[in-house]
Amino acid sequence: MATFDYDAEVAFSSAAPGYWASDDISPEDWSDFRWQLKNRVQKLEQIEQCIQLSQEERAGIMLTGTKLASAVTPHFFNLIEANNPGCPIRRQIIPQVAETFEDDTELSDPCGEDSHMPVPGLVHRYPDRVLLLVTDRCASYCRYCTRSRVVSGVGEQHLETKLEAAFEYLENSPQVRDVLLSGGDPLLLSDNRLKRILSRLRSIRHIQFVRIGSRIPIFLPQRITPELCDILKQFHPLFISIHANHPRELTTEVRDGLGRLADAGIPLGNQSVLLKGVNDSVEIQRALVHKLLLCRVKPYYLYQCDLIKGSAHLRTPIHRGLEIIEGLRGHTTGYAIPQFVIDAPGGGGKIPLNPDYVVSSDEERTLLRNYEGKEFLYPEAQELSQLLT
Ligand SMILES: *Cc1c(COP(=O)(O)O)cnc(C)c1O
Repeated sequence: MATFDYDAEVAFSSAAPGYWASDDISPEDWSDFRWQLKNRVQKLEQIEQCIQLSQEERAGIMLTGTKLASAVTPHFFNLIEANNPGCPIRRQIIPQVAETFEDDTELSDPCGEDSHMPVPGLVHRYPDRVLLLVTDRCASYCRYCTRSRVVSGVGEQHLETKLEAAFEYLENSPQVRDVLLSGGDPLLLSDNRLKRILSRLRSIRHIQFVRIGSRIPIFLPQRITPELCDILKQFHPLFISIHANHPRELTTEVRDGLGRLADAGIPLGNQSVLLKGVNDSVEIQRALVHKLLLCRVKPYYLYQCDLIKGSAHLRTPIHRGLEIIEGLRGHTTGYAIPQFVIDAPGGGGKIPLNPDYVVSSDEERTLLRNYEGKEFLYPEAQELSQLLT
């Protein structure tokens, strides 16, 4: 195995024009998100012109198109190493034949969202917050997508969000103070549509907090235009949760796009998914979280991969996530450490998992261990009445 090069992984670089070097694309076109979307890499022949595919990938591309489309923006495609079938970027977006193998523990709706929708497209699982699915399209498609049953538009099920009914439900639900826009990718909507949705949400008095879950800053940083930032900042407090899994995804273009969002006063968090062969080691996670802080992004959640159908080849054992958290906590900046969670299969919501730092505990004292394995005793306060007798 190659040794890990921390300095190389945390350094920012641009991969452009990469595979498009001989195509004579103007820098204006390249940095236009419309050009990036129009020129997404989708077809086997197109992929094979650039990278050397394994048998597993070639079969995967041919067999998976009726479940979840494959499409990758040129920006993100450029991060793929042409001759490395184990490339961590590649494993996220190039289908493998293993995707067609399903076992009976896997689910098409692993987080039980469809059964928690009071209005189509609005998931209301927790008391004070909701998830609103505003589109079924993304700039590129992650092969482990938790919502692949409705995302990309090629599967049997379709997303049928009733936006007007969702707004009415929210108006009549004063306990909801937090709305999370997701999809698909909300930042793929036009500036005008986003503005209309955000204005409508902001017109509801009890909604304090709005956030957008988006991988656009990673897949299509060109979409983070100054105009978009000017719109978003009218709706504060507005947070954005991005989705980066590997330090290489944080290119100079991505850093600049995130910088524009941060400059617009938008607090940024990252939700990454723990994936086998992508980011399942302490050293890669350490480089990722450090690089996120350099981009003013707080690592928010590290997800155990959902039991989505055909994802076994990307799933890690639960103890790997705990080892990663243990390898970060104490060893690096507290701000850099995400919460490891499992979204409970069937619809129990997110459940936090933590390494156990309690060695033993009784009514009088708790024996703790620190990040170095040293033990410390914390005595409980004694009842005053006991001290007096
Ligand atoms: C993840 C999620 C939320 C938001 O949860 P937070 O812990 O507040 O980030 C809300 N609703 C649903 C259905 C979710 O899956």
